Amino acid sequence: MDVKFSQEDEAFRGKIRAFLNVSLTEGLRDAARKRTSLWQDIKSSMSWQQILHEKGWAAPDWPIEYGGTGWSLVQRYIFAQECVRAEAPALIPMSLRMCGPMLIGYGTEKQKAHYLPRILSGKDIWCQGYSEPGSGSDLASLQTRAVANGDDYIVNGTKIWTSYAQHANMMFALVRTKNDGKKQEGISFLLIDMTSPGITVRPIINIAGVHELNQVFFENVRVPIINRVGEENSGWTVAKYLLQFERFSMGSVELRRTLGRIEALAKTTRADGESLRDDSDFARDLKYLQIKATMLEASEQRVLANLSAGKPPGPVSSALNIQNAELLQETDMLGVEALGYYANPYEPEALEGGTNRPPIAPENGIAFLPMYLSNRMKSIAGGSSEIQRNIVAKAILQL
Ligand SMILES: Cc1cc2nc3c(=O)[nH]c(=O)nc-3n(C[C@H](O)[C@H](O)[C@H](O)COP(=O)(O)OP(=O)(O)OC[C@H]3O[C@@H](n4cnc5c(N)ncnc54)[C@H](O)[C@@H]3O)c2cc1C
Repeated sequence: MDVKFSQEDEAFRGKIRAFLNVSLTEGLRDAARKRTSLWQDIKSSMSWQQILHEKGWAAPDWPIEYGGTGWSLVQRYIFAQECVRAEAPALIPMSLRMCGPMLIGYGTEKQKAHYLPRILSGKDIWCQGYSEPGSGSDLASLQTRAVANGDDYIVNGTKIWTSYAQHANMMFALVRTKNDGKKQEGISFLLIDMTSPGITVRPIINIAGVHELNQVFFENVRVPIINRVGEENSGWTVAKYLLQFERFSMGSVELRRTLGRIEALAKTTRADGESLRDDSDFARDLKYLQIKATMLEASEQRVLANLSAGKPPGPVSSALNIQNAELLQETDMLGVEALGYYANPYEPEALEGGTNRPPIAPENGIAFLPMYLSNRMKSIAGGSSEIQRNIVAKAILQL
C-alpha cells in the first residue's frame, strides 16, 4: 500500500488543520489532554461530536448515503492523525462506531431513518448490553429473557459492565427468546429505550476510581417488537457483525500519542542533571515500541481499505485488538518507568497523592499512572485477548 501523501492529500490535511484550529476550543483540548481513562468524559466528547456533526464529519467511516464523508482511506487516516495531533476529545464509540454500522448492515429502512440521524447528532447516546454476570467470554449463555406479549417483548434480567449506561438513553442488547436447541440460536437483538419503566442502573467504580461501568437491571420492561433488529432468534449473527466494528479501532493513533508524551518526558533533565534520553535501555525500549506502532498502523490501514470498499473489518480485527491492547499496556509500562526515573520518592506529598494523582504536570497531559490503570481493561473489554486468540485460531488460521 502506498502511504506517501500526494499533493491533494496534503491540501486535504491543510483543510483539516484549518478547521481544527478554528473549531477546537482550548476547553476541549484541555479535556482531551486530561483524559485519564478508556473513555473521554461525556460532556467534552458530545460537544466535539456536535461540532463535527455540523460540519458533516461525525462518522467518516459510514457510507456517504447515511451521513459519511466519502473520504478516501488516506483522507480518513489523515483526519484521525490530525485530530490526535490537535488534541481533540475522543468520541464515544458505542453510538458512532458500533450501533451505527450495525444498523447500516442489519437495520430496517425505518430503523435506519429514525436512529442514524439521531446517532450522528448525538441526540441518542447508546450503550451496549451484551455481558451478564456469568456470560462474558461465553456470551451465548446469556439469560436476560424477552417474552413476546402483544406488540411488545417483556424483558427481565440483568446486564453488567455496561459502559456509560448512566449517560445513555438507548441500549442495544442481546436477549434470550428461546431456551431449547443451540444456545446461539435462541438470541434476539433489541433496541431498548433506557427511560422505559423497570430499568435500574447501578454504578460500578473501576480500579482507577472512576465511574464508567454499570450493572443494569430489567424488571418487566416493555420493548416494542418493532425494535428488534433482524429476525427473532437471529440476534447472534447481528451481535457478531457488530463485534467486528467494536474490536477494530485506530489504536496506533492513541499509541503514538502516548509514545510522543513519553519521548517528551525523557528529553527533560532531572534535578541532578541526569536525563532518561541518555539511558540506552530506555532508548531501545522506546524505539521498539515505535516500530511496533508503525506495524500496527500498517495493518490498520489494510482494514480501513476494507471499510472503504464497504466490507466489514472481518476476523482480522481480533488480531489487531490483541496487538493494540498489548502494545498500549507495554507503552503505559514504559511511561510509568519514565515517571519513576523523574520522581522524587521522598517527597511526602507525592506519596499522599496516591495513584490517582497525575504525578507530573497534568497541564502537560502527562497522566501515565491513571492511564496505566485504565488500559489494563483493554485486554478484557470487547472480548478478552484469550478469546480473540481463539477467534484468530479458528477464523484466520483455520485450526
Ligand atoms: C472496561 C470494560 C468495559 C466493558 N464494557 C462493556 C459494555 O459496554 N457492554 C458489555 O456488554 N460488556 C462490557 N464489558 C464486558 C466484557 O465484554 C467482558 O468483561 C469480557 O467479555 C470478559 O468476560 P468476563 O468479564 O465475564 O470474564 P470471563 O469470561 O469470566 O473470563 C475470565 C478469564 O477467563 C478467560 N477465558 C474465558 N473463557 C476462555 C476460553 N474459552 N479460552 C481461554 N480463556 C478463557 C478469559 O480470557 C479471562 O481471562 C466491558 C469490560 C470492561 C473491562
